Amino acid sequence: MRPLTIASPVPSPIRRRPVRRGAALLAVAGLMGSAAMPAARAQAVPPATLYSGGEILTMVGPRPSYAEALVERGGRILYVGPLAGARKAAGASARRVDLAGRTLLPGFIDTHGHFIYFGKNLVDADLFGASSVEDVVRRMKAQAAKVGPGEWVVGFGFNGNAMARYPSVADLDGVSADRPVMVVDSSGHAGAMNTAAFRAAGVSAATPDPAGGKFERGADGKSLAGKAEETALNLVREKRPAFSGATADAVATKASALWASYGQTTAQECGVGLGSDDIALVRNAIDKQLLSVDLYLCAKDSHVDAMASAAAKVVNDYGRLNPTADGGFQRQERLVSAGAARPGDTKGPLLRLRPDLDKRYVNRVRLGGIKFWLDGSIPTAWMSQPYATNPPGTEPGYRAYQQIPDAVLEQTFDRWWTSNVQINMHMNGDAAAEQALRAIEKALRKHGMADHRPVFIHASYLRPDQIQRLKAVGGVPSFLTSGLVPGGDTVVKLWGAERAANAMAARSMERAGIPFTFSHDAPVSPQPWILPLIDAGVNRRTASGLVIGPEQRVSPYEGLKAVTANAAWQIKEEQTKGTLEAGKLADLVILERNPLKVDPATIKDIAVVETIKEGRTIFRREAAGSAAPSSAAGGLPCPHELVGRQGGELSPEARRTLALLEGAARGSGVELDSSGSPLPLDQGAQSSLPGVLAPLPR
Ligand SMILES: [Zn+2]
Repeated sequence: MRPLTIASPVPSPIRRRPVRRGAALLAVAGLMGSAAMPAARAQAVPPATLYSGGEILTMVGPRPSYAEALVERGGRILYVGPLAGARKAAGASARRVDLAGRTLLPGFIDTHGHFIYFGKNLVDADLFGASSVEDVVRRMKAQAAKVGPGEWVVGFGFNGNAMARYPSVADLDGVSADRPVMVVDSSGHAGAMNTAAFRAAGVSAATPDPAGGKFERGADGKSLAGKAEETALNLVREKRPAFSGATADAVATKASALWASYGQTTAQECGVGLGSDDIALVRNAIDKQLLSVDLYLCAKDSHVDAMASAAAKVVNDYGRLNPTADGGFQRQERLVSAGAARPGDTKGPLLRLRPDLDKRYVNRVRLGGIKFWLDGSIPTAWMSQPYATNPPGTEPGYRAYQQIPDAVLEQTFDRWWTSNVQINMHMNGDAAAEQALRAIEKALRKHGMADHRPVFIHASYLRPDQIQRLKAVGGVPSFLTSGLVPGGDTVVKLWGAERAANAMAARSMERAGIPFTFSHDAPVSPQPWILPLIDAGVNRRTASGLVIGPEQRVSPYEGLKAVTANAAWQIKEEQTKGTLEAGKLADLVILERNPLKVDPATIKDIAVVETIKEGRTIFRREAAGSAAPSSAAGGLPCPHELVGRQGGELSPEARRTLALLEGAARGSGVELDSSGSPLPLDQGAQSSLPGVLAPLPR
């Protein structure tokens, strides 16, 4: 084993442990596995930061509890409690942060989202809000000027339903005659491309439409018009070269900044493999240490083997730096030293260890589990009983359908039930939940109870008997509550009043003692927002003003737990995250106002002021009107920050969010008649609901 190199250049918070001798400090030092410190190291102790002057909501326990002050040092929470004790713990050199009446909370945790998928969209031209061909072309020309010579020019997010037609081949040839140009609408199911893109994909007028897709043809019935749908779009899309260089880096850095701007310190990609270059993008983020937030990954079911070998390679490449395995704090200390002193290491420290004892992360990335899709979205949720209103084109008695064979799920749980690989399952209907429960119960009977915490993603409708069984297997439902705002009226219409009233049954879960979470599923939600999730779970008010299932509303505190303490539990990180307690990571968010003390209808409008990951600011909201980047990490302003404020111009993100919300509300096609009942849903309205609880492309 190599000797410890005390003078290692590795900027590890670990080696800068607290050495002051306050009683609280000793207690924390004990927690961190360090009882005595050489005096010579005293100079290396980083200054502490003391937060006070606002509401510090710890999220510990079933009822709100506040602390007067919090001290952070070296990335960890050192102390939470009265100000006098905090002063003593922090020492005279501490940095003081006056919260000025704002609210400090544990950093929010993303329990179901698509960080990499969304990050790729951030790199492409932003077409959100574009509602004319001219607008799309103008923005694509700006994108063409930005990307490198050989690269594809790609844009994402225009509202196809609001446009008279999709861009033509000629329109997009006007953007670039020689480079492939492709635009994809906000549903992700249709797009348009230029001559060079069709050529790159080997598609010509002679190419027949693939099964499950369609190329729009010109007046002659043969020539390519530009638009491509579903599998036809995929034929071209999959020919796009993998992201590389600065573009690949930007996927990670832009998504990090965006997630942080919504107060999140832990993100999630629950579907690695949706894109063919996902694994390479993750590896790139690991190797270059590009992430400012932690990232929990789930492999798409079809990519488990590819993901497992990629993870094994990471372990091999990084784990070999670990000279011993004696566990605990000292092991990490040696690991850091060894990493810095590795012979022939020209790239500098490869491994940036965190001050916690969670050895599952490598440079902020952790492989958490596997993702399955068991059914579709609202009109394709697999139900045990027929729909109340048939979606267009379906037969009487329609209940939607099963997506994967029972045996696949049963084998999965048989194999992974007692492991640390967590199974995450997309489901909306109760028949899909039934399939999951049956598979889990079978594994449980064979192997006994395990601390698996299977995740029921969306879990939009579970029957009361299923909720009891969910409790028995230790499952966690993760509700996309903000989907109720634009999609709730459709849920009432298609599923009927009873199932709608008990959709996303947070209160029933709470009564059953099941720790539920709220998740945005971005880009299914147009932004990776958190406060609108709490708002929707608390108010359950649809776009038309209907309150769906008022008995399932939860308190604002329970809503906050769903994105902090419960969220940490879902991803099995409750030892280090989710509450403000000494010894946990200093993952923090500062909100403009306390969600527990505002009109509940305004929770979604509360601004995220600052996001702090292990003591370091990764997002800071600038004063209204400032166009400067919000942080060193390039954080974007919160879309809500300027809404309703005097003199402030809406940020592009705010405009985009509002446009999407309005579009979704309008596009739902659900209007109330004079008696307050939803009017019939037509085919056009149906297809304009892509952003509402829709599953991602498989
Ligand atoms: Zn998803």
